[in-house]
Amino acid sequence: MTVPPTAPGPPLLVRRAELDHHRAGPAHAGELSDVRTVGGVVTEISPDRLRPGPGEIVIDAAGGALLPGLHDHHIHLLSLAAEAASVPVGPPAVHDRAGLAEALRRAPESVGGWVRATGYHPAVAGELDRYALDALVPDRPVRLQYRTGSLWVLNSRALDRAGVHGGPRPDQPGIERDAAGHPTGRLWRMDDWLGTVVPPVGVELAAVGRTAAAAGLTGFTDATPGRSPAGTATLTAATATGALPQRLTLLRPEGGDDSRRPPPTDRVGWGPVKIMLDDTALPTPAGLAARIRAAHRAGHPVAVHCVTRIQLVVTLAALTDAGPVRDPAGPGSGRPAHHAGPDRIEHGAVVPPELYPALRDLGLVVVTQPNFIAERGDRYLADVHDEDPAALYPAAALLDAGIGLAGGTDAPFGRPDPWAAVAAAVERRTAGGRVLGPAERLAADQALDLFLGAADAPHRPRRIRVGAPGDLCLLRVPRAVALRAPSADQVAATVINGRIVHAADENEPG
Ligand SMILES: [Zn+2]
Repeated sequence: MTVPPTAPGPPLLVRRAELDHHRAGPAHAGELSDVRTVGGVVTEISPDRLRPGPGEIVIDAAGGALLPGLHDHHIHLLSLAAEAASVPVGPPAVHDRAGLAEALRRAPESVGGWVRATGYHPAVAGELDRYALDALVPDRPVRLQYRTGSLWVLNSRALDRAGVHGGPRPDQPGIERDAAGHPTGRLWRMDDWLGTVVPPVGVELAAVGRTAAAAGLTGFTDATPGRSPAGTATLTAATATGALPQRLTLLRPEGGDDSRRPPPTDRVGWGPVKIMLDDTALPTPAGLAARIRAAHRAGHPVAVHCVTRIQLVVTLAALTDAGPVRDPAGPGSGRPAHHAGPDRIEHGAVVPPELYPALRDLGLVVVTQPNFIAERGDRYLADVHDEDPAALYPAAALLDAGIGLAGGTDAPFGRPDPWAAVAAAVERRTAGGRVLGPAERLAADQALDLFLGAADAPHRPRRIRVGAPGDLCLLRVPRAVALRAPSADQVAATVINGRIVHAADENEPG
């Protein structure tokens, strides 16, 4: 008899685990609990040793911390999977033109002989166009993505294969053209269209799922703007087959047709509507308020991309006008079924203190990327002049101001390791060793909490309690010990829906 890969696991007993409530005070110091899951749900928590039932799987935690499974609240899963078929062409892998040429020449060919390069930064070899790429790789189709994710550059061979030629094409406004109407090779925010003209890269979602399980991740919120129905289908299928064992929340494409979307399952649900903003084509507050109202009228909160000061100012004005959707678990309100949570600000790279009261009063949750401080901090110091680099991605000040905060890695634009992000939130140390904004450092517990929230309440750390889903992350050591050097290496086992999906010391998970 075959068991569906997403069925709840068999009864599971985790013995002698350190639980979160042991932090509640000295009365609980050294106390360890046994935790049982049956049918994918936590059914029993006891300070006494529970007797294993017949056929029950038993894990001895030996004093290690048992956490709710981690959740990455902002990630791009299909892009992350495609990274496996890509060559990195930005720092730290590549620093100069010679390195870029070498990386592209050695790049693995994906389907159809295409080279897919990602992570480019102009510090490597300046702004690129088709001719710059032709000079490096004339004979193979190359597509190269800037690190920001908004710009692809294709060489001439690639443009030819993609059918992009001269002459005005008003239906493709993202295709940059020179004065004579010739495409420059630079394609702005054209991912969806590119997906229809280039051969699909091998989508390695199973590898993404495995790596994430080894880091204790039991859930993702995919934040891809304008995700295509095909992309949604790929993610949903990977979840149904167990290739991607994690629970999945999908931010909704703006203006999409809900009737054509697959219904939510116990593994896949819909989140807020993702609204992208671009400084070059910023809506008016009234225009944005109309879009937010449309989402709210359809019953959905919004998640607005805000990486600059002006984007946040316009967004707050629009939300004040439209009125926010608040956390339904807030004081005095019951949580309705299938609620997708409060309105969110994605990134919050720049949050001037004078805007804190508005953020708090609107009940917004900021989904931040502490890992960017570690990964990109040195570049911020070199490149960012119109803002204080030390004030980027604020964290401690937002919590102090009573603003909800959650974490996402934004992988593949950031590294997909939540533990590295926790360490970055605590240290705010760049690769070059500079501490960026020491006042914004979080305590280790606060940093871990960024990844313990529920998909629909990202700022509220879950607790292991009877009746909660059996989504668990067992550490080898007590929480305080693990947080001295946060690392995925501390994860001993990961459980989703009561099923062990990763066990560090076994070759075959149970
Ligand atoms: Zn993103």
